[in-house]
Amino acid sequence: MSDIAKFIFGFKRFQKDYFCADSTVFQNLREEQKPRALLIGCSDSRVDPALLTGCAPGELFVVRNVANLVPPCEDDGGHHGVSAAVEFAVRSLEVEHIIVLGHCNCGGIKALLRVGGGGRSGAFIDAWVDIAAKARDQVLEELSTRDANVQQRACEQAAILISLENLLSFPWVRERVEAGKLYLHGWYFDFESGELFSYLPETKAFELLVPRCP
Ligand SMILES: [Zn+2]
Repeated sequence: MSDIAKFIFGFKRFQKDYFCADSTVFQNLREEQKPRALLIGCSDSRVDPALLTGCAPGELFVVRNVANLVPPCEDDGGHHGVSAAVEFAVRSLEVEHIIVLGHCNCGGIKALLRVGGGGRSGAFIDAWVDIAAKARDQVLEELSTRDANVQQRACEQAAILISLENLLSFPWVRERVEAGKLYLHGWYFDFESGELFSYLPETKAFELLVPRCP
């Protein structure tokens, strides 16, 4: 089956489950969506947010980009797609949680490290991943003697913290977090082991949230 035929077959299966017979899922979603969380994930095909979290249509508001990054709040009239999505999720949908979901073997973070070593990945990619340049510089300094895999994983996790920090640069995010109306989460999915980690401010580390299969 060709790729496109596979996608059309997949849509027909989706249509059958959600629109045919007695399915009322989209009847209830026709007028409005009320997701309780915004998830900022990577564009990587291996880390599909709805699939990973078992969410049905309407349950998760999602932004995906290279290396699951959030830029700082920049009110300069530019084309800020991620900031627009965060603004809509927080101010209009009033989500209660924002999850920044990073992952292992991230090509975007590889590009960030490559740029740090004087390499290039592409004009748009290099400029985009530069959002997490501080994370890279910190990792390369603190783990200068460690191998590339250790540096990569540390940089993937440090970049999540940069995005969480940048989220707080949006005044309406900070306000809601301080009022206890909005909770920020930093998650890390390791698809080599199948484990999920969550950042704990108390230990300043990514702690196991879901262990590997028994
Ligand atoms: Zn990635």
